[in-house]
Amino acid sequence: MQNVGYLYDPDFSLHDTGEFHIENKFRTESINLLVEEKYHDMYPIPSRLGDKEELLAVHDYEYVDWIENGYDNGVRSIISSDTIISEDSFYVALKAATSTKNAIDFFAQGKGKRAFLNLRPPGHHAEIITGQGFCIFNNIALMARYAQEAGYKKVMIIDFDVHHGNGTQNIFYNDDSVYYFSTHEKNNYPYVTGDFSEKGEGRGYGFTQNLPYIDYIDDKEFLTLFEQLPQDFDFDIVLVSAGYDLMKDEEISTSQVTFDGLYEMLKIILTFTKDKPVAFLLEGGYNIESLVKSVDITLETLHTF
Ligand SMILES: [Zn+2]
Repeated sequence: MQNVGYLYDPDFSLHDTGEFHIENKFRTESINLLVEEKYHDMYPIPSRLGDKEELLAVHDYEYVDWIENGYDNGVRSIISSDTIISEDSFYVALKAATSTKNAIDFFAQGKGKRAFLNLRPPGHHAEIITGQGFCIFNNIALMARYAQEAGYKKVMIIDFDVHHGNGTQNIFYNDDSVYYFSTHEKNNYPYVTGDFSEKGEGRGYGFTQNLPYIDYIDDKEFLTLFEQLPQDFDFDIVLVSAGYDLMKDEEISTSQVTFDGLYEMLKIILTFTKDKPVAFLLEGGYNIESLVKSVDITLETLHTF
């Protein structure tokens, strides 16, 4: 049995996206209910409200400042109207992103080697100079930088969300200390990034790997993609952008990945991780029933495999 860390804060519900938005508070609240009912043994990792300056490790100052003062200046969304800015959105997004530091401390203090971060808003679409796609600040990118500060110099990021994590790719595109591996549906948001030919630039060339896939992908085809996880990147920690919008009951994609397929993928990731610390950060997943079942399988696997 593994000692698995768990991070959640009821304040994540204060990011108010409105009544009809698919990225809503019921996602994280439903996952937390599952944990309260079934996973009493998880090690609680406390949330944390860091300084906004910490965000500058991955975001541009002007952007952070714009979001901080956005609501008061009448801003109600970023670029396309899908990314909502409510009164408390800056506070919540700052808290979600900077809380990830406590999960690094959980690893560094030897309390456990696996963790699940039930975060809101999600982060992998947030680029250096802007948020988008329901994401305000890039949680996993900031966590990668915290990891490096704590001595985990080489960071492996695996992104299985059905959408390409353009933000994470953007932040580490020239960096050879963070490897970004993404599987995603080709004909889906954000459309313009995530091509196979995007492999990084300069020193970072060869440290980004995109595996876009066809519509209606099945378990077998999907699992084959993970054979391309890099075997020669000597990582110190693995961070996973856990987007459960790839599951077959999700309306946001055509992917046909089943719960069995998800379980097989999780085992591949944990085998690849070996004895290094690994954290799963919630990204997408909008069908609540499918989302909760997917996280249930994830937590079960993190405990027992
Ligand atoms: Zn997604």
